[in-house]
Amino acid sequence: MEDLKGKMKELSAEEKADLDQARITADEETVGTKKLFIESYGCAMNFADSEVVTSILRDEGYSTTSKEYEASLILLNTCSIRDNAEQKVRKRLALINARNKGRKGVKVGVLGCMAERLKTQLLEEEKIVDMVVGPDAYRDLPNLIKEVEGGQKAVNVFLSREETYADITPVRLGSNGVTAFVSIMRGCDNMCSFCVVPYTRGRERSRSASTIVAEAQDLFDKGYREVTLLGQNVDSYKWKNEAGEIETNFAQLLALVADINPLLRVRFSTSHPKDITDEVLHTIKKYENVCNYIHLPAQSGSNRILELMNRTYTREWYINRIDKIREILGEDCGISHDMIAGFCTETEEDHQETLSLMDYVKYDYGYMYYYSERPGTPAAKKFEDDVTLEIKKKRLDDIIQKQRGHALERNNLSIGTIKKVLIEGVSKRSDDFLQGRTDDNKMVIIPKDKHKKGDYVQVKITECTSATLKGIALAEELA
Ligand code: SF4
Repeated sequence: MEDLKGKMKELSAEEKADLDQARITADEETVGTKKLFIESYGCAMNFADSEVVTSILRDEGYSTTSKEYEASLILLNTCSIRDNAEQKVRKRLALINARNKGRKGVKVGVLGCMAERLKTQLLEEEKIVDMVVGPDAYRDLPNLIKEVEGGQKAVNVFLSREETYADITPVRLGSNGVTAFVSIMRGCDNMCSFCVVPYTRGRERSRSASTIVAEAQDLFDKGYREVTLLGQNVDSYKWKNEAGEIETNFAQLLALVADINPLLRVRFSTSHPKDITDEVLHTIKKYENVCNYIHLPAQSGSNRILELMNRTYTREWYINRIDKIREILGEDCGISHDMIAGFCTETEEDHQETLSLMDYVKYDYGYMYYYSERPGTPAAKKFEDDVTLEIKKKRLDDIIQKQRGHALERNNLSIGTIKKVLIEGVSKRSDDFLQGRTDDNKMVIIPKDKHKKGDYVQVKITECTSATLKGIALAEELA
């Protein structure tokens, strides 16, 4: 996902605790005789990939476990987002090796975005893993496991131009049973200068529309009520027929998924300002169940910096897209952003332009980072990372403070209004409350009462913070 690439997010203590907690597989009953433990880091795309891996390995007789010590196959699905990500993976691998020393037949593998960069070190120099598998090679896992069981080391980090895992039904891991991700494409062709994605996940390719619709239908039939269509740049989704003509574009795909059932909410992430079309905005407007929320990363408000970032749009273009969103979808449409503070050569003037863009848009939410160089990216090769850490942090703080103010201002507008909330489960803070989301992606807390997850509830909003709305459910029940 665009918001989590090639840069480091400044997180609150609470967010840190959440994100630092990698997701691990849960215990399954007796689906298979062999036990698989996967620990996944990073973005939604990576978590979705772990679900594909689990599906592939289920066919090989593996069932998942939450206990590393039970597993005969331990996999770390890695991510290259953060500065310290590599050290963290090394530490985890050292610990896994130490803990499992003496356990016969246990194999350890590294998957995901770090595979290509670290393969030689992990397999040959440090010898701390048995196999290394890149994001496009998961179908090869059964063969690679056989090689490993035969006493060899195994590696496949080949990046494909076709692989989308279209025909594989992911095994939902750690699911709340209400919301799920559906991957619609892989890779990215955009080459933003700070970003590692084109190098770790390869070229952009779209998955067939029919398999996406089938997966979403299957989720709905199983009781899910919200799908998020996932891709690095969803607006450039295109499914072509054999003659190479575009058969389904992203707006059409949205409509196809929305048509499954009005009770299935549809979200998507991530949009690119250069690609989001009026047709997409009109589709959001047409379908009540396509959520009125757009994540539109800006990265900077300065044209000079946008050019260095190779974002291929200007501040004026970005503002035009925001104006169109407001014109077609109105003031209620939720808009969020990614912003990077302190990119190479950024001046105070550039920074002020970022703040003034934020003032113009008044975003509901933001993912905010200070720039941190990623090895191998165009920015690392061409530009000097010359803004001091102190200034980066100070500018990031300005951005965060401004965002908090805008989020509170936007959330205040909801007080007294009635929102349709999809209940996702029990509140993290208290079992007496439930949490759910509005159409425009705001978290809402309500007293538990008789409601349960998966219900749509009409909620009158009574109070808010910059992060959350609180309300009371109205008597009227929704389907
Ligand atoms: S290259 Fe740009 S558009 Fe593509 S994933 Fe990276 S930041 Fe997003």
